[in-house]
Amino acid sequence: PSEFQGKHVTVAGLGVSGVPAAKVLHARGAIVTVVNDGDDARAREQAAELEALGITVRLGDGATLPEGTELIVTAPGWKPDKPLFLAADKAGVPVWGDVELAWRLRGPGAAPWLAVTGTNGKTTTVQMLASILRAAGLRTAAVGNIGVSLLDVVLGEEQYDVLAVELSSYQLHWAPSLRAHSAAVLNLAPDHLDWHGSMEAYARDKGRIYEGNRVACVYNVADQATEDLVREADVEEGCRAVGFTLGTPGPSQLGVVDGILVDRAFVENRQKNAQELAEVSDVDPPAPHNIANALAAAALARAFGVPAGAVRDGLRAFRPDAHRIAHVADIDGVAYVDDSKATNTHAAQASLAAYEPIVWIAGGLAKGASFDELVASSAKRLRGVVLIGADRALIREALTRHAPEVPVVDLGRTDTGAMLQAVTEAKRLAQPGDTVLLAPACASMDMFTNYNQRGDAFAAAVRELGA
Ligand code: ADP
Repeated sequence: PSEFQGKHVTVAGLGVSGVPAAKVLHARGAIVTVVNDGDDARAREQAAELEALGITVRLGDGATLPEGTELIVTAPGWKPDKPLFLAADKAGVPVWGDVELAWRLRGPGAAPWLAVTGTNGKTTTVQMLASILRAAGLRTAAVGNIGVSLLDVVLGEEQYDVLAVELSSYQLHWAPSLRAHSAAVLNLAPDHLDWHGSMEAYARDKGRIYEGNRVACVYNVADQATEDLVREADVEEGCRAVGFTLGTPGPSQLGVVDGILVDRAFVENRQKNAQELAEVSDVDPPAPHNIANALAAAALARAFGVPAGAVRDGLRAFRPDAHRIAHVADIDGVAYVDDSKATNTHAAQASLAAYEPIVWIAGGLAKGASFDELVASSAKRLRGVVLIGADRALIREALTRHAPEVPVVDLGRTDTGAMLQAVTEAKRLAQPGDTVLLAPACASMDMFTNYNQRGDAFAAAVRELGA
């Protein structure tokens, strides 16, 4: 009998993780109650589907702990300070996220996980990693926070040799027993602090990814906080700390020498003390932050035993997803670049560092961020700035403080149609050789459904101007 037989399990939250979790727990004999805050049409539809199977669903009440609950399986986004979890804590009821459930349900001999987290670059890095593993002839997939449910993968028919797993800080918070083969924390910058409560708590949750690693803990040499997390982690004997750097690598590091990505950590040939992996120009785009992502992906692949040639082939085959520093068009000698996925200041910093001079389109929902550092470090590269969105005043004030001579056009608009006007203003400010860069440093939901729609609106506006 399964460990869930007859067990009272509360699933917190319908949706992409809750519905499959409720189904599998029910199928394994658990007595499942789903609680959900919302009570809209979509929730009712999902509730009806589960109720037809004999699962209890409570809509519009995600706060009360159902009587007799022995385990909670929560959607990753639910905040730890919700009354439901405070009650669970008091009653000694464990809480698992969807990733924890998937980890526990994976079968014997299941594929090991190469896991990636960080404030920015997660999706890009797991996609690079999957591309490298595929080039090595391994059966793999990029899964997890990237939009592919780990539960579906673990329970599915398809067989894998190894998984490239993207994990968010939320998912890690709720995954106490996860043990990766090897893992990387790409970088750590303030984000989602309203959820975690503090930078320390956010870092602690990210650091969970290293717990129990078997082969390698990959950290960013330029980001001391990531190395600190490795030092604090409790890992298996023989597990190594492996750094990546954009400079010359030290021992146990991957880095860059004369435009070549090299590995000094996993050297195959004893005669040499470094192994050449790929050229900087093999990485698309070859911007510094993206080379860092490639090195992290290479480090994880090498930890899994992938040869250098497959790293090169995998990186060459990789193409970035839409809205991540995507070149949209050149019009009158001006390049138009869509980095709509730059939804926080740390991400925007990376793309602002890659161009000069820039006409910067920014603004949206700030999520409590401060823009001083971003604006101060980018000021000398700015030709001009066009501001859109709800929290644009915060950016405008930072510009006044740190870049008073840079012309700023504040559109004062938060409607979807503002993007065409923003691009028109940017075109007016730009000179031949400039880059018009959409890198909002903010979330999009004040004006758009998501960053995809925001990037599409930008691209459509650029095409309209070019026509
Ligand atoms: P995530 O999955 O962590 O959100 P993505 O790979 O989707 O990361 O990239 C999101 C954005 O973050 C990119 O559009 C780019 O602006 C920025 N970015 C990507 N990699 C890095 C990095 N290593 N450091 C800083 N910013 C980055």
